[in-house]
Amino acid sequence: MAVDSSLPSPLAAPASDKDAKALQFIEEMTKNVDSVQQRVLREILSRNAETEYLKRFSLNGSTDRETFKSRIPVVTYEDLQPDIQRVADGDKSPIFSAHPISEFLTSSGTSAGERKLMPTIHEELDRRQLLYSLLMPVMNLYVPGLDKGKGLYFLFVKASTKTPGGLLARPVLTSYYNSDHFKTRPYDPFNVYTSPNEAILCLDSFQSMYAQMLCGLIMRDDVLRVGAVFASGLLRAIHFLQINWKELAHDIGNGTLNPKVTDASVRECMRKILKPNPELAEFISNECSEENWERIIVRIWPNTKYLDVIVTGAMAQYIPTLEYYSGGLPMACTMYASSECYFGLNLNPMCKPSEVAYTIMPNMAYFEFLPTESSASGLVDLSDVELCKEYELIITTYAGLCRYRVGDILRVTGFHNAAPQFYFVRRKNVLLSIESDKTDEAELQNAIENASLLLKEFNTSVVEYTSYADTKRIPGHYVIYWELLAKDSANAPTDDVLNQCCLQMEESLNSVYRQSRVADNSIGPLEIRVVQNSTFEELMDYAISRGASINQYKVPRCVSFTPMLELLDSRVVSKHFSPCLPHWTTERRR
Ligand code: AMP
Repeated sequence: MAVDSSLPSPLAAPASDKDAKALQFIEEMTKNVDSVQQRVLREILSRNAETEYLKRFSLNGSTDRETFKSRIPVVTYEDLQPDIQRVADGDKSPIFSAHPISEFLTSSGTSAGERKLMPTIHEELDRRQLLYSLLMPVMNLYVPGLDKGKGLYFLFVKASTKTPGGLLARPVLTSYYNSDHFKTRPYDPFNVYTSPNEAILCLDSFQSMYAQMLCGLIMRDDVLRVGAVFASGLLRAIHFLQINWKELAHDIGNGTLNPKVTDASVRECMRKILKPNPELAEFISNECSEENWERIIVRIWPNTKYLDVIVTGAMAQYIPTLEYYSGGLPMACTMYASSECYFGLNLNPMCKPSEVAYTIMPNMAYFEFLPTESSASGLVDLSDVELCKEYELIITTYAGLCRYRVGDILRVTGFHNAAPQFYFVRRKNVLLSIESDKTDEAELQNAIENASLLLKEFNTSVVEYTSYADTKRIPGHYVIYWELLAKDSANAPTDDVLNQCCLQMEESLNSVYRQSRVADNSIGPLEIRVVQNSTFEELMDYAISRGASINQYKVPRCVSFTPMLELLDSRVVSKHFSPCLPHWTTERRR
């Protein structure tokens, strides 16, 4: 296991004065982890001393760790939900935070089928901005010359809603891209994007993507890095190009803009960028009309030095596809963040995806770690985690979350100065994920139960099931394997009924899933594959032959292991797809 004790030697030669300051800051933070953590906890507890939440646990103004740890419970979202709902309904009293709650950030984690609402305060934007400002100085140590060109980043906003009390509720990146921190960012030669703000901020996902792709193609020679937040987003962009290259090439050749792009501000800014370029149009048409799309990223953007996308955690499933499209370019996973809090960054961003380790910055929040080994006792501090051990991340934030379980499992793989570096192991309780959706076992079970009601009149029941996130094609989709017991073979469920079962499952899944299906088109129709009788028995036999215990064998509710998938697929008798989109609106169900 690599133990990284310092940034690479070029640290001595940062790309600019600004970079030197940022790197210095990283050094200070990582050398003084514990004292920074102590300061952060003191700041949070003293400023929030009069909040209802801290008073409820009789903290009485104490700001020391011992009192904090002995009085404040470790909580989940469900524990906080009633108080969060009060804030959402308009209660402006200081419940969680002495600073007013400026908006809610809607997490892709869900509770009762809806996105979780994370209260935030205005100054958190500065903290997020600070973390962003450290990314390029680190990258510049490994990849020189990034000031000589641009980044092609596919960035998107999503619809916002208002809570009954009038607070905005939107995803953290939508909040950030709409902030002045992003919109009026000062010019930085190391951080020039091909996408205009107008295109990024356009709410219509087709128009936004179209304009961003068009700019990327027009500026193809300037592009030095290609990215999106998550791997799934970049693959969606490639898929978009596959579908729309003819129209894009037409616009490039003629200097016109597709009439499907109706947003006035996008049209206005594209007008300044578009000029007829028949040569480029021909090049794009030639490349895209080829059957073989291997290395398409470097064929179209030949100066690309790396992909900037997160491929850790649930996104690891996309690595082979990205390698195929990029001809094996390095994939930089630069940061680790959530709606609740931005956590840290990767100090060695050009490493292999399997070696990515995030250094949590101790100034972002107060961090504690719950060992996952049942034998271990108690939470440990950031400075006390041990090499190779796994922990669940617990945070206490300036916005007022106290000892909150994020649900991420991390493993310590090394240290930078005194700061531990974490491999992202997994998110707890997530069975299926295509992009930002996270479906857990209970949600899947509930969806299966709802769908199987449609089989009742056919005297048929679902005896076993498992699932698989199929990301081989874009957009990816959920595949559910069903073994059915039909008691009346003369009246077996028809294809149409099983298609309706697919739709019923989708209707039962959480709002993040349905939004991705409906608004972003980033998840394809759910598929049910009916397998022969006894297939699940064979699956069990196979697991036992590989060492599973007969007594303890449980049907896996999700499979990704190729031999098991092959077994299931070889027993498929019929396939069914959701015939239309499920319901989704921006409105939350209470
Ligand atoms: P959200 O609150 O919807 O922004 O989702 C945040 C969650 O996304 C985190 O708690 C992680 O589970 C996951 N996540 C964020 N960044 C990374 C990363 N770099 N690698 C793996 N998973 C990540």
